[in-house]
Amino acid sequence: IAPEPIGPTGQEDQHDRAVRPKSLADYVGQPVVREQMEIFIQAAKLRGEALDHTLVFGPPGLGKTTLANIIAAEMGVAIKTTSGPVLEKAGDLAALMTNLEPGDVLFIDEIHRLSPHVEEVLYPAMEDYQLDIMIGEGPAARSIKLDLPPFTLVGATTRAGLLTSPLRDRFGIVQRLEFYSVEDLTSIVRRSARLMGVEMDEGGALEVARRSRGTPRIANRLLRRVRDYAEVKGDGSVGVEIADLALNMLNVDARGFDHLDRRMLLAMIEKFDGGPVGVDSLAAAISEERDTIEDVLEPFLIQQGYITRTPRGRVVTALAYEHFGVPKPDRGV
Ligand code: ADP
Repeated sequence: IAPEPIGPTGQEDQHDRAVRPKSLADYVGQPVVREQMEIFIQAAKLRGEALDHTLVFGPPGLGKTTLANIIAAEMGVAIKTTSGPVLEKAGDLAALMTNLEPGDVLFIDEIHRLSPHVEEVLYPAMEDYQLDIMIGEGPAARSIKLDLPPFTLVGATTRAGLLTSPLRDRFGIVQRLEFYSVEDLTSIVRRSARLMGVEMDEGGALEVARRSRGTPRIANRLLRRVRDYAEVKGDGSVGVEIADLALNMLNVDARGFDHLDRRMLLAMIEKFDGGPVGVDSLAAAISEERDTIEDVLEPFLIQQGYITRTPRGRVVTALAYEHFGVPKPDRGV
């Protein structure tokens, strides 16, 4: 089976955009984030200032890009979007920043992947709205300073710990996105189905929500595949039965684990006696990137209580043995 893409594929990006909420009121779940952002945005607007720089972190697909766009929309300003790996030279960042209008949002996705070079240009820009760059080379090189309009940097990353501390310290607002509850995912699925014109009953929506790994992007992706299945194998409408058949076909199990989750848990059980195992050994055992394990697989499995982290490595819990019907070895403890 081909592995599921972790981030949005180009095509999926278009689908995503079609169902992406545009206002804070439509942003489902994340009550803490929503309440705080409502206040901070309103306060900034009352003072006629740019919103403080905001760092949003959390696993892929939880709504970081969506939140950045909503911040701009609620502030009534434009948003310019880029990402850490794309900004190779300080000049790339300078070009973007000199094009900002007062109050605009500059969104940098994967901000932990900025080169140290570019990051240094960002510090004075964030702090004093000052651009300080070197032009030319050798003896003719000189530094120029430019004033920037007040702007809001919104940075997104999977884990806050990936940022250097000088960068992290320059964000006035830090928001952590949590996995979504089944209830919240059910409303997201219902809303997307409505926007996509899919006929779906409550049972169908609940089934897709329960098996979406707590992640809106996955919920929307599964919804599109379930719709395909319903159109070909049924009359196009989605109830619990069709949803279940389609999701089984997609290898998404009753807990929402996909083949990668299962491969990782099984490797821990079968090859490492349940752990503790270090992330690098685990990555080698399942031929996956360490980042995929730390950013995508592990956070959900930990949140669901299938894995715990100890100082000596990751350990599977009794729940994981139960899930696979494997007896937990008696270690005589
Ligand atoms: P990230 O940037 O964290 O990877 P995105 O912001 O691209 O995630 O979100 C992926 C998709 O999930 C969006 O296109 C949107 O349709 C949906 N989504 C994310 N957060 C929410 C939310 N709070 N409410 C409703 N839909 C959401």
